[in-house]
Amino acid sequence: MDTYSRTLAPRFAQLLAQRESELRAILRPIGEVAVQGPGAQEREVLDFKDMAVEETQSVVDEAKADHALEELELVLAARRRLADQSYGECLDCGEPIDLRRLVAMPATRFCTACQDVHEHGRAIEARRFANHAGKSRP
Ligand SMILES: [Zn+2]
Repeated sequence: MDTYSRTLAPRFAQLLAQRESELRAILRPIGEVAVQGPGAQEREVLDFKDMAVEETQSVVDEAKADHALEELELVLAARRRLADQSYGECLDCGEPIDLRRLVAMPATRFCTACQDVHEHGRAIEARRFANHAGKSRP
């Protein structure tokens, strides 16, 4: 398994910065729409059909924004770990994360095994298992 090493920091800094600007680009226009409303001058001529469409669109945008905001937080946390040199280690078991996983998801916090456990809500067992595995190593 290839793992992250500090010589790769500039590459990952670039990946994370790129993802951050993509996410900010998604969030920026939605923020403006929420404040100003779309087509403020034409509002008087909207009929009910248009209003229904607009409402559906705003629900979709809201879900998209929530998701983007969540990912942005992960990206920012990953950039902090990159800066303090803890990047590339699983936050749960402390083992190095597979490099291919990091390339695919630069903001990921967990190794594949711990991610599975989180998705199934068994984080405590995984931590115990990891501690046990750590002690038995030479
Ligand atoms: Zn792990």
